[in-house]
Amino acid sequence: MGLFGKSTNKNNSNTTEAAPDKWRDKYLDLLDTQEQSEKERKFEQELLCKAIVRLSVAASGFDNQLDPYLLRIRSHLKSGINSVQLKAELEQFTDVLTRITDASEQRPAATTSVAQTDESASRRDIDLLFEFLLHHYQEPQQNSALVSIRDSLTYPLNTQQLFLSIAEIIERKPERIKQTNSELPFIIASPAVNEPAINKHLISLIERLDIPEALTAKAQALKQQLNSAQNNKLDDHLDNVINFLLEINAANLPKQQEIDKFLAIITEQLAELDKAVTGSTMAVIDASVNRSKLDQSVSEQMNELHTRSLAATQLEPLKAVISSKISQITKEIHEHKTKEQAQREQTQKQLDELSQKIKSMESETSDLKSKLQTASTHAMRDPLTDLPNRFAYDERLTIEITRWQRYHTPLSLIVWDIDFFKKVNDQYGHQAGDKVLIHVAKQFTENARKADFTARFGGEEFTMLLPHTNKQSAFKLAHKLRYLIEQSRININGELLAVTVSCGITQFIDGDTHEAAFARADQALYRAKEQGRNQCCLG
Ligand code: GH3
Ligand code: MG
Ligand code: MG
Repeated sequence: MGLFGKSTNKNNSNTTEAAPDKWRDKYLDLLDTQEQSEKERKFEQELLCKAIVRLSVAASGFDNQLDPYLLRIRSHLKSGINSVQLKAELEQFTDVLTRITDASEQRPAATTSVAQTDESASRRDIDLLFEFLLHHYQEPQQNSALVSIRDSLTYPLNTQQLFLSIAEIIERKPERIKQTNSELPFIIASPAVNEPAINKHLISLIERLDIPEALTAKAQALKQQLNSAQNNKLDDHLDNVINFLLEINAANLPKQQEIDKFLAIITEQLAELDKAVTGSTMAVIDASVNRSKLDQSVSEQMNELHTRSLAATQLEPLKAVISSKISQITKEIHEHKTKEQAQREQTQKQLDELSQKIKSMESETSDLKSKLQTASTHAMRDPLTDLPNRFAYDERLTIEITRWQRYHTPLSLIVWDIDFFKKVNDQYGHQAGDKVLIHVAKQFTENARKADFTARFGGEEFTMLLPHTNKQSAFKLAHKLRYLIEQSRININGELLAVTVSCGITQFIDGDTHEAAFARADQALYRAKEQGRNQCCLG
């Protein structure tokens, strides 16, 4: 969007992007209004300016009570017409004038001579005055009031009374004066006004003006002209001063434009600044609170800026106010960002700590899990042969018996025992005995089915749980295993050792308990031993 383009997204006032648009729109609206009213008042101002200066200068020296008011009225014209102040001044002026007039009416013989004008000169000027007034004040009431004053004039003229009456009518209802370039075509001549005194006033008026540099030479020339008083024409003097005032007014216009331009740039810069702040992410929890505080503060400062800028007529003081405000806003934004950064860092730190804690907890949990698993494995396994131990056998037994009871599928049990194992230990040493145990266990696991469960029951005794297997099948398997072990050899210090095993086999039967089944298998094993070992017996 261009610098002077208005935002079309007016409904979106809550978005962060809307704030600068809002300010800009507000600013542009105010500029439009100002521009409009400036136009409307421009000609009115010029004419009033001329009229007031002329009236003021003309009235100077009439009465020393009036002079301070006249001086103040003129001084208000220095920076253009401020209607409110001027109205107040004119009201005060009117009050004083009324008092003076009342007093003069009470002393007719003494004062009329002062107020009376030279009739022939006055008639001409008064005609011109009413011609002007009737042309520019066409509102029916004002117009007819002016006509009535004109028609009821008597000579010699009481100019103070006349001005008062005209002022009352004009001020009663300010009407828009028709645009015109013509100057007020009248001069109120008064025998009470002496030209050098007026010139003195005019010089003093020029000296009090805030004159732009470009016009200082002209002001000097004008003052010299007034001082020399060679030109006896009061009209010319007044016209020159009035034109000079108008030139000052015109010279101030670019100043106002400069202010407008400056404000537009400042507005854009602030909008950019705001965008930059808005663009930053607000990750912290209470960032939105801080953010709205900042928004409010910036908005208040912007409003103040706006108010001041609208009232401003001088660029330099306005620049000073704006730069101080911008510094303040920038400082606040900086503080806000620092605070936000600190909060973000704090939150990030907390998050990091939390994440670290979670990680370490996860790792602890995983450690514990694996320790537990290891512990559980260790608790359920025989470390020598790596076969499930007695506890594991008991656990599995419960599962298989439950399954057997539920599905009525056959379940067999084999109890193994290594033959003459004591001799191995005695003859070859305990380590050789361990090697035999490992070898036998390996034969069992490698040659049985996966579903078969082999455990080291204790010492050189092993048990096998065979699900879905009746005792005949169990016998066949037992026989095969016994044979394989008998055929195998174990290398003990270079000597190939042969060992044999014996077993008792039983099948779980209805109403069986483990103890009962185990006892049957154990008895069958005992028989196998009795019958010469290296054999399998059914129980
Ligand atoms: P039988 O044929 O009647 O079973 O005779 P045997 O010698 O095998 O039976 P016995 O019960 O008399 O001997 C078992 C031996 O097994 C006794 C013990 O020293 C040995 N033994 C038990 N556990 C281990 C072990 O973990 N390692 C070793 N090396 N020997 C063990
Ligand atoms: Mg034994
Ligand atoms: Mg044995």
